[in-house]
Amino acid sequence: MPARPCKWSNRFTGATIDSVERPPACATFRFYAELNDHLAPEQRYRTLERRFFVAATVKDGIESFGVPHTEVELILINGDSVDFDRLVRDGDRIAVYPVFESLDVRQELRVRPEPLRNLTFVLDVHLGKLAGYLRMLGFDADYRNSATDPELVRIASEEQRVLLTRDRGLLMHAAVTRGYWLRHTESRRQVAEVLRRFDLASATRPFTRCMACNAVLQPVDRSAVLDRISPRTALLHETFRKCPGCGRVYWQGSHYRRMSQWIQQLLDDPPPPLRRPIDNHAG
Ligand SMILES: [Zn+2]
Repeated sequence: MPARPCKWSNRFTGATIDSVERPPACATFRFYAELNDHLAPEQRYRTLERRFFVAATVKDGIESFGVPHTEVELILINGDSVDFDRLVRDGDRIAVYPVFESLDVRQELRVRPEPLRNLTFVLDVHLGKLAGYLRMLGFDADYRNSATDPELVRIASEEQRVLLTRDRGLLMHAAVTRGYWLRHTESRRQVAEVLRRFDLASATRPFTRCMACNAVLQPVDRSAVLDRISPRTALLHETFRKCPGCGRVYWQGSHYRRMSQWIQQLLDDPPPPLRRPIDNHAG
């Protein structure tokens, strides 16, 4: 269906259209699937107009709706795939698809040259529990509770880590090319959400990484850790691993058994999608 023509208005500039040197460009945006999570309820699954009084890139246009560019995998303008820095022109019809949207697109059409594989993460300061769980599952998860926003952006950019956050604004930094806005607030649900979103169930390596400092654990003889464990633990367990980063010693105690059960449930019974399309307008 062709988009309706824009309704011109001068409420942004207070000027009449005739006195504006460059006529405003009017484009329509349509966001697909879970990108609608970022929109106001009345905007979801609809064709949305946006007027631009100064030259704007499609990244700016997308983020003006509150959708971080890191959530976007494919942009079609008038049917052609484009990069984030394409300037919006008058009359453009812009379709925006999320990462892993089940749309049959050729790899070369996507806005990123590399698919999101071999993932490593950097987590925002409030996500300490999630960081611990991701490390427990074997994922490289950088986390410091004192990290500033610029530090998080720098780490995500320089180390090509996926920035996990509940702060959309953080994901709008141009330097952040990989990021994800967590929908859930409870840490165990967030773990399930990350596994599902990045299709990581088969990539888990439980209990191979230190939950406290992210270093990869190393096998160690019991005799080498006797000074760090209780006599009872030494009696009951044979296999130990030690963190080369912080010195913590890990063994398969009750915490290990509880966590193993939870991980098995997580992998056997993947959680359902966060929200199914709510009506037949769904992209
Ligand atoms: Zn450690």
